[in-house]
Amino acid sequence: MGKGSNVQKAQQARERNQKKMGKSDEERKAASDKAKKDAAAKMCLICKQTFMVNARPPLLYQHLVAKHPDMVDDPAKWVQALPDLAGFDPNDPKGEKAAAKAKQDEAAAKKKQAKKKNDAGLDDLLSAGLTVTKKKGKK
Ligand SMILES: [Zn+2]
Repeated sequence: MGKGSNVQKAQQARERNQKKMGKSDEERKAASDKAKKDAAAKMCLICKQTFMVNARPPLLYQHLVAKHPDMVDDPAKWVQALPDLAGFDPNDPKGEKAAAKAKQDEAAAKKKQAKKKNDAGLDDLLSAGLTVTKKKGKK
């Protein structure tokens, strides 16, 4: 027990020192593990080349063009190498066209909804108008 507590004391002293420095061994290990993981977060399933976690589809597409040109012509094959390329459009690398189309679709859907509402509103107005007319007629 005496020896164990010495080891413990040394360990505690080390932890105190590390706390003074701001980071524990665990934190440092976690940070370095995360860095390693991030550095190879994405991988080409064909040639096993790894990519940073923040590698964007345009970069991955470049890899495809450079390393697997035989796959470039067939978008269905892209995801077999790089799943992140699902839905990627090389003519729209930033997804701006897709975003614009989504916006258009949304606007169209809203217009449709607004029209429905207006129709319902018109019905209400008509029946309200009828009621008012009836009342007026009584006077
Ligand atoms: Zn590859």
